[in-house]
Amino acid sequence: MSAEAILAIDGPAGAGKSTVSKQVADELGLEMLDTGAMYRAVTLAVLQAHVPLDAPAACSEIASRVAIELRDGTTWLDGIDVSVDIRTPEVTRAVSVVAAHAGVRSALVAHQRHWAATRAAGVVEGRDIGSVVFPESRCKIFLSASAAERARRRQIDEANAGRTVTIDELVADIERRDQLDSNRAVSPLVQAEDAQAVDTTGRTIDAVVDEIVQRYRAANPSGEAVDVSA
Ligand code: C5P
Repeated sequence: MSAEAILAIDGPAGAGKSTVSKQVADELGLEMLDTGAMYRAVTLAVLQAHVPLDAPAACSEIASRVAIELRDGTTWLDGIDVSVDIRTPEVTRAVSVVAAHAGVRSALVAHQRHWAATRAAGVVEGRDIGSVVFPESRCKIFLSASAAERARRRQIDEANAGRTVTIDELVADIERRDQLDSNRAVSPLVQAEDAQAVDTTGRTIDAVVDEIVQRYRAANPSGEAVDVSA
């Protein structure tokens, strides 16, 4: 298929991408691919192999060797469920460094394009989905939210995972990751020219989900999105 019917959802950490993407996918009856989980899985493999994070060749070799599978919201690395392990502070601290290597990105982008090629449509969330991975997508969304709101949301996630982190620490972490993601040489976090910006600050998840579902349907008139022969 062509990737025109892929719904590309990009944006910085904490903009609400995961929650929003999941609900949008459910509402549209589409599968979802969380590309951040893929970069996190490679980072976990790099940490487990005790490879320096800033070693491009070694990190890229690991990215092209490991088997990553995303199933129903779970993430598997070489046949092991790593859904919890990829969300630890250690992986979160390291991921933007590993994700900056061109070889890591090309291995994962190939994986993402293969995923799309075997489906009629789907929701793919990340940082470079509309700009680099699926530039032909007819519906690109760039989600954002204020740093304070993103830190507040992260604090709730951390509390749910049993960790206590101050807002100041979270703001610092978010700003550090934004800085790395936005300034890397390869596929930086950037709003695609034809992406629609959606600011989630102060809005309910349902309102944001409704807006994106409507935008997707408008860009993909009925039938096209689910026509497997397309
Ligand atoms: O979405 P999430 O916060 O889990 O992503 C973790 C990290 O993976 C990001 O901070 C970014 O460094 C990297 N990433 C990326 N490109 C993507 C998705 C995630 O570089 N498409």
